[in-house]
Amino acid sequence: GHHLPETPGDTRTGFVRVRGAREHNLKNVDVELPRDALVVFTGVSGSGKSSLAFGTLYAEAQRRYFESVAPYARRLIDQAGVPEFDAIDGLPPAVALQQHRGTPTTRSSVGSVTTIANSLRLLYSRAGTYPPGQPHLDSDAFSPNTPAGACPNCHGLGRVYEVTEQSMVPDDSLTIRERAIAAWPPAWHGQNLRDILVTLGYDVDRPWRDLPQKDRDWILFTDEQPTVPVYAGFTPAETRRALKRKEPPSYMGTFTGARKYVLQTFATTQSALMKKRVSQYMVSGECRLCQGKRLRRESLSVTFAGLDIGELSRLPLKRVAGILRPAADGTAPGAAKLAREHPEKALVTQRIAKDLLARIQVLTELGLGYLSLERSTPTLSPGELQRLRLATQVRSNLFGVVYVLDEPSAGLHPADTESLLKALDQLKGSGNSLFVVEHEVDVIRHADWIVDVGPAAGEKGGQILYSGPLEGLAAVEASQTRRYLFGAGTTTKRRTPREPKGWLRLEGVTRNNLHGLDVDFPLGVFTSVTGVSGSGKSSLVSQVLVELVAEQLGHEIPEEEEEGEELERSVVLTTGGRIVAGMEGIKRLVRVDQKPIGRTPRSNLATYTGLFDNVRKLFAATKAARARNYDVGRFSFNVAKGRCETCEGEGFVSVELLFLPSVYAPCPTCHGARYNAKTLEIQYRGKNIAEVLGMTVDAAYDFFSEEPQVLRSLGVLREVGLGYLRLGQPATELSGGEAQRIKLATELQRVQRGNTLYILDEPTTGLHPADVDKLMTQLDGLVEAGNTVILVEHDMRVVAASDWVIDIGPGAGDEGGRVVVAGTPAEVAASSASRTAPFLAEEGE
Ligand code: ADP
Ligand code: ADP
Ligand code: ZN
Ligand code: ZN
Repeated sequence: GHHLPETPGDTRTGFVRVRGAREHNLKNVDVELPRDALVVFTGVSGSGKSSLAFGTLYAEAQRRYFESVAPYARRLIDQAGVPEFDAIDGLPPAVALQQHRGTPTTRSSVGSVTTIANSLRLLYSRAGTYPPGQPHLDSDAFSPNTPAGACPNCHGLGRVYEVTEQSMVPDDSLTIRERAIAAWPPAWHGQNLRDILVTLGYDVDRPWRDLPQKDRDWILFTDEQPTVPVYAGFTPAETRRALKRKEPPSYMGTFTGARKYVLQTFATTQSALMKKRVSQYMVSGECRLCQGKRLRRESLSVTFAGLDIGELSRLPLKRVAGILRPAADGTAPGAAKLAREHPEKALVTQRIAKDLLARIQVLTELGLGYLSLERSTPTLSPGELQRLRLATQVRSNLFGVVYVLDEPSAGLHPADTESLLKALDQLKGSGNSLFVVEHEVDVIRHADWIVDVGPAAGEKGGQILYSGPLEGLAAVEASQTRRYLFGAGTTTKRRTPREPKGWLRLEGVTRNNLHGLDVDFPLGVFTSVTGVSGSGKSSLVSQVLVELVAEQLGHEIPEEEEEGEELERSVVLTTGGRIVAGMEGIKRLVRVDQKPIGRTPRSNLATYTGLFDNVRKLFAATKAARARNYDVGRFSFNVAKGRCETCEGEGFVSVELLFLPSVYAPCPTCHGARYNAKTLEIQYRGKNIAEVLGMTVDAAYDFFSEEPQVLRSLGVLREVGLGYLRLGQPATELSGGEAQRIKLATELQRVQRGNTLYILDEPTTGLHPADVDKLMTQLDGLVEAGNTVILVEHDMRVVAASDWVIDIGPGAGDEGGRVVVAGTPAEVAASSASRTAPFLAEEGE
């Protein structure tokens, strides 16, 4: 270990001492970390950085905290797993700023996450300009989530879901009998409504468009619900006769107009499927009463600097800062008068404005000034979200805590790294410790202390190679990080860019901050799209390009299965743009993004890649399995016959805690194995199916050495640097970067036919430079096989090694959205207008 200088008895410059850490792959390590310092954990992906920083230090701090607030919960928390270690001393309470893995849980906005929305409400309540005679409103009245604030027309949603004749009757050449009213319920219920119309005398056999408008309106939009005799199975003529003769009906039926049916079903149904079905017949529009601002009229009549709170919340934070500044420093028009006449109000105004301004400034400095307060967090990238939380902490006035961060540079252009470091310094300066897992060289260089974990991933990692100030790492030969920090050959050798085989030309691209943009993407080469955070890269590449190409290929754009969000997603997009040339070079589109490979622990690496199907076949083919008639399904933890009944194949059960988030505990029956005892009796080469799922990819590669099909998948997984993952590692435990590499591997194991367009959004996130090299080799292979690769990327080593670079910007939000320069890396590096150029030039030297 390392000998650390120590000041006995001095707690301020104290250390956190960890002894015998064994969480995940950690090899019984001892390490001492200075407090009140910026400590950066480095090492290749899977080496054990997170296991130490999050799995051990943060988890233990959290556990101690829970224990102190709710001692009774101890047993349950212990059950959920205490990190494995012998002792940890000097550990302060911890706050984790982790990039979300899996689903973002709450629906929130920039304003609510940062709590700036609260202060803004206070500002409007206390310091707003009220119309003459209107009494002052509570802060609550400025929140759409309270009855006092919500617009009564849209209930605070800002949008109203409506139906039109067109939305409910998509094909008006059909008759009612032919189901012209597509929005009506299917099956019996729909027939019943039709029979009622027959009784009421409407013509159900004329094309919809030939019916009188008055009839059409009544059928679709009436709120009346007459109950009439129904003669099931009668023709209209027979019905008329039966009615005249007052024959006893089959039953009495109650009519419901199509609009009433759709809206009522949408609002009240418990079935997600029904909801989805009727939602197809709805169109949504901005609420006319509040103009989408979600608040009631009284609240919107209060202004600050001439804007209502809805208007202010839509502006980029940078502009909001500009509006608040005069109020904060007392130079706003009328401030002097206010100070004379209502000194108290003047004081309050200034104080709130100052506080708001300071908090917004931190966000702006972190490169987030292009966001608006009303922007919803699900539309933010994980990196943006983490920086939002970071900024919030900078102003929180907490001290004496450890902040544990997961790659805060993710999604950040090198031009913005400086401000990230400043924010970290600020947190440290207020008396906090920072434990940061990071790959970005500039952040590593800024550290007071480096903990290098390695030497490789998984089983081959888990050791502390170095712990101390940066310079000392230069002498540690086993370290892969060392090469990239000190080594000579760290920069990529610039090779001669490949010649494009054609061009995919987009015109009139309009989305978010892009307005009528024309862009050419080269085909058959490797392109990086660069630009500062918020410049419009994702809007261009991950949104418009993906959608337009998918549309041309007739692909469905794979919908993310986010409960209840489809609706909003489909309405907020205002879009424009078309592909005018180059589609002949593209036969397939593959998007390799960082979205989770599944949202439940039921999906994992093995199921996602298809590898598990082959493994299950091997088990089903064993003698023992055949003797018992166990088929492939028996070895799936998603199928009843083979899985553990207690946990239904999940491997754990959730334990609800009063007042605390629920925790997961291993299943008491199968202890996490997921299968029932009978299934586990079957062995393939001495291992049961649960043991195979517990193997790492590397271990499985040796184990299945005689099974070419399984081996092929495993080999590719190793090549993308995932040899350290366990086959059964649940999707919910994987980072975005790991999910992305799994998708890439799934793709690479296919037979390559060329003419595929691959689109990747910042694939280097979570990757050590050594892993980035591996990734580059894979992507290069795809291009060599005749495909096109387009990345959104911040890592200048990758950008410098591309064939073509498209730099978007120059700034963020409305200061961006244009193509600043496009060309070979050398050409872009020479551009004087591009903020990327200086960093790219540095890399190429
Ligand atoms: P890093 O942060 O350096 O990329 P991790 O600490 O995430 O590495 O992973 C180190 C090792 O621990 C890897 O082999 C990984 O598969 C394993 N590991 C990570 N998370 C878990 C988990 N929840 N359960 C079991 N093993 C895990
Ligand atoms: P980049 O990928 O370069 O970081 P984005 O394409 O994500 O940039 O964002 C470009 C601009 O569009 C920013 O001003 C951003 O706030 C805005 N924007 C991006 N996505 C959305 C969205 N879903 N809703 C509203 N504005 C958005
Ligand atoms: Zn409204
Ligand atoms: Zn079980």
